Amino acid sequence: MSNSTESKEQAKKSNFIHLQIEQDLKEGKNNGRVHTRFPPEPNGYLHIGHAKSICLNFGIAEKFGGKCNLRFDDTNPAKEETEYVESIQKDVRWLGFDWEDRLFYASDYFDKLHGFAIELIKQGKAYVDDQDAETISQQKGTPTRPGFESQFRNRTPEENLNLFNRMTAGEFEEGSHVLRAKIDMASPNMHMRDPILYRIMKAHHHRTGDKWCVYPMYDFAHGQSDYWEGITHSICTLEFEVHRPLYNWFIDQLKDSDYRPRQIEFARLNLTYTIMSKRKLLELVKEKYVNGWDDPRMPTISGLRRRGYTPESIRNFSDRIGVTKVDGMIDVSLLEYSVREHLNKVAQRVMGVLNPLKVVITNYPEGQEEELEAINNPEDESMGTRKVPFSRELYIERDDFMENPPRKFFRLAPGREVRLRYAYFVTCNDVIKNENGEITELHCTYDPASKGGNSPDGRKVKATLHWVSATHAVKAEVRLYDRLFNDEDPAGHKDVDFKDFLNPDSLKVLPECFIEPFVKNAQPLDHFQFERLGYFNLDYDSTVNKHVFNRTVPLRDSWAKMQKSQ
Ligand code: ATP
Ligand code: MG
Repeated sequence: MSNSTESKEQAKKSNFIHLQIEQDLKEGKNNGRVHTRFPPEPNGYLHIGHAKSICLNFGIAEKFGGKCNLRFDDTNPAKEETEYVESIQKDVRWLGFDWEDRLFYASDYFDKLHGFAIELIKQGKAYVDDQDAETISQQKGTPTRPGFESQFRNRTPEENLNLFNRMTAGEFEEGSHVLRAKIDMASPNMHMRDPILYRIMKAHHHRTGDKWCVYPMYDFAHGQSDYWEGITHSICTLEFEVHRPLYNWFIDQLKDSDYRPRQIEFARLNLTYTIMSKRKLLELVKEKYVNGWDDPRMPTISGLRRRGYTPESIRNFSDRIGVTKVDGMIDVSLLEYSVREHLNKVAQRVMGVLNPLKVVITNYPEGQEEELEAINNPEDESMGTRKVPFSRELYIERDDFMENPPRKFFRLAPGREVRLRYAYFVTCNDVIKNENGEITELHCTYDPASKGGNSPDGRKVKATLHWVSATHAVKAEVRLYDRLFNDEDPAGHKDVDFKDFLNPDSLKVLPECFIEPFVKNAQPLDHFQFERLGYFNLDYDSTVNKHVFNRTVPLRDSWAKMQKSQ
């Protein structure tokens, strides 16, 4: 995947879900309609795995001229919060998708679902069970051994109706009664063994308040919500494959026309070095292992955004990984490759010095300054050029100088000449040290004839260094990130907690860096390439007096290298 033409081709390719939809359209199903939904549970912030699902669902709507709804699966009042509802909407929009006026909540259907439950009771297809959860699960049997029937299974519809109404009215304690579907305790599919439809929960719901003290189970809410919204293709992850017969059973009880939503499963995204479970991510936030959901080390969409990822890079990544039926693990360097590829095209180049070493140009007149022309983006001429100030005192990268260089070190050293990018050839004459023997500055001379960094007489230098003018530069804090976990599969170890694999060096703060004045008026999220160092963006923590930058990714591209060597 070394060029962008190839990746565009990839993006246009059909996946197996597209093919199934095409087949449905060919057969004239649903009057040619295509309607999907993205159904997050508002119990945390969205992560890169959700991005895959968002791109898939909204992408299908785009591809087939259909629609995609955003629906909050808010059936569990205990874990859900308005903060999450808002962050999810922000993230989906930021990724570039639009649900128009189709924002729904499973809780919109609480009345209808309750009515449907009563209908099932009346038809003798649902009953109230007075047993506790543990007993019910013990009676469920195993995949190879049938379950056995509850002693309450054969209550009359009248009795069930009475009990369910009393459950609804709040007469019973939590855990004392549930409503179950009456399907088949011997079914080879465990989900068909009289699944629970409603449980008592005396909890405040973020939207319906204290109206309800019975809440529908996810399985009972999901397919029906699909049906009422006219969803044609209900796309979910593989673990729901075994729920499909139950999904269909509910639809069969509800269906009054030819239309029926079709559930299709795909493999969820797993990334190396990454945790992809909201519960575990919440743990990291609550226990302060990270600085909130949008910590730039988090695999959340808000974290990636703050880190400097662009919507385009995430959408390209999602196209690239494709959609399959087999669980696998994607190399996180492919995600890094995607953002690098996009930022390479769009990021403004600037020079910034992270580990400053002062350089005095002794033959440059004191008080003099000039502006040199620099290219904003060599990949995109239309981005033009800018002026970079040059003066007698500069900073270069400490790593770009060695007093006693080994043979293969070609950058600055005593007596050696190098190019300062866009500026001049300079030669190092003196190394100034403090009383501890540490290098504090270099004294160099410049060749005025090499203006623009061009060789005046054909003589060659082996290195080009980035630099900033000390008096003009903006002082900044720069935050460098490494992987949050130092294990490829932190959640995949049986007896070890995933937090044991947290990388203690995942954040490194450089408090005193110098960036060329171009960045003075940058706004949070504005991205830059700091030449030779990587892609960076301005963090929300920046103030007028203090610039803070995040490194999105270094320039080095391990993924592209891997592809080349294969
Ligand atoms: P988590 O396990 O992280 O809590 P979830 O499946 O419980 O995720 P939901 O809010 O229920 O989170 O997910 C919303 C949608 O996103 C679902 O359709 C789900 O299948 C999909 N989704 C969740 N995680 C992934 C993933 N890693 N890859 C692809 N799709 C995902
Ligand atoms: Mg879920």
